[in-house]
Amino acid sequence: MELFNLKHHDEKVSFAQAVVRGIGRDQGLFFPDHIEPFSQEKIEELLKLPLVQRSQIILRHLIGDELPELEQIIADAFCFDAPIVPAGDRIFCLELFHGPTLAFKDFGARFLARVLSAVRGDKHLTILTATSGDTGAAVADAFYGQKGIDVVVLYPDGRISSLQEKLIATLGGNIHAVRVKGIFDQCQDLVKTAFDDTEFKARIGLNSANSINIARLLAQVTYYFEAVSQLKSGRDKVVFSVPCGNFGDLTAGLIAKALGLKARFVIACNANDTVPRYLQSGTWDPHKTVATLSNAMDISRPNNWPRVEALVKMQGWSLKDFAYGSLNDEQTEQAMREIYKNSGYHAEPHAAIACACLKNTLKDDEVGIFLGTAHPAKFKSEVDRILGIDEALPKQLQEKALLESRSDLIDPDYETLKALVLKELKL
Ligand SMILES: *Cc1c(COP(=O)(O)O)cnc(C)c1O
Repeated sequence: MELFNLKHHDEKVSFAQAVVRGIGRDQGLFFPDHIEPFSQEKIEELLKLPLVQRSQIILRHLIGDELPELEQIIADAFCFDAPIVPAGDRIFCLELFHGPTLAFKDFGARFLARVLSAVRGDKHLTILTATSGDTGAAVADAFYGQKGIDVVVLYPDGRISSLQEKLIATLGGNIHAVRVKGIFDQCQDLVKTAFDDTEFKARIGLNSANSINIARLLAQVTYYFEAVSQLKSGRDKVVFSVPCGNFGDLTAGLIAKALGLKARFVIACNANDTVPRYLQSGTWDPHKTVATLSNAMDISRPNNWPRVEALVKMQGWSLKDFAYGSLNDEQTEQAMREIYKNSGYHAEPHAAIACACLKNTLKDDEVGIFLGTAHPAKFKSEVDRILGIDEALPKQLQEKALLESRSDLIDPDYETLKALVLKELKL
């Protein structure tokens, strides 16, 4: 697979190089400049296969002859289901939350962890990541026990849910949990400082595993095919509604479309609505990020947007082809209650936004699928309050909740972090 820096086309890398580097010169994203579509007969054939086997073919097609371990990696990484579940009239939820940390990020993080492990050679890697909750949990779980890779997860002390903390801080081994006395932005700043520290970066083999990594995106392409494969009818009239934060999930869906999967897409946002306003007015005008119920979408400068634009241009599509919508918190609560009342389905805030935006655009002859990006139990207090229910925690998490968290507590100070990392890595 050949990928190019979207800012500097002369920087060309292989898939393995793109995965290890993460990002190119001047923060340019890596992306292919051509996607070879499957024939419609091949797509029909793919839709008959089980998830793992189909995903092996799709990712082999995209990645090409690099990475001989690819098939094994996929079998290992995709070890849970992604069912579509009825949630209204001609509407389904694609439940992407049956992995170990109950969020769709398990797909990308588990694939990335195994790919990095395969391509790192003899080099020891250290993943340093700051999290306000979900990503850190998925990354920690995905890299747990991977040889030659250590993970340091920074999170703001007392500001993530107790369950999220358990998912990060009860693993031990190669996963190092660090609480920072401060807010998420200070954790993020510490990570940025580390990436600017060239000597330290080289010494510990620093890597970010963040959402711009191409491996995470490619893993996510596969479940759009999985969703369509489960439809009994209406397969060529599918509309996907994607709850968007950094627009990684949407980019993955569009890659599936470029591969020949027939579908149109709805961009669903919360009050952080830079993209819907852009599609409406043609002006890119990010506002200050505001906190909402759907906190994984509280992003006003989505870092995968350049990839969406590149893909649209490459395929000769138009931004006008996208349906879009945005909901504030009050509308989100209303949507959650409506879905529950009409279909009995428990949607957490992110999924509910996607469902509501889908309903606004779905035509009579279409079938709608919105992405269920997190398990409702992950947002238990909001879901219980808004729907008046007692959402049960899945079994694997009930067990987690009983374990004791172990983490270091530090001031938001770079030298302190650096000393701690060197000590933890025994360097
Ligand atoms: C990360 C996340 C999103 C947003 O996904 P992007 O790929 O960043 O657009 C939506 N919902 C949940 C629950 C998430 O964790």
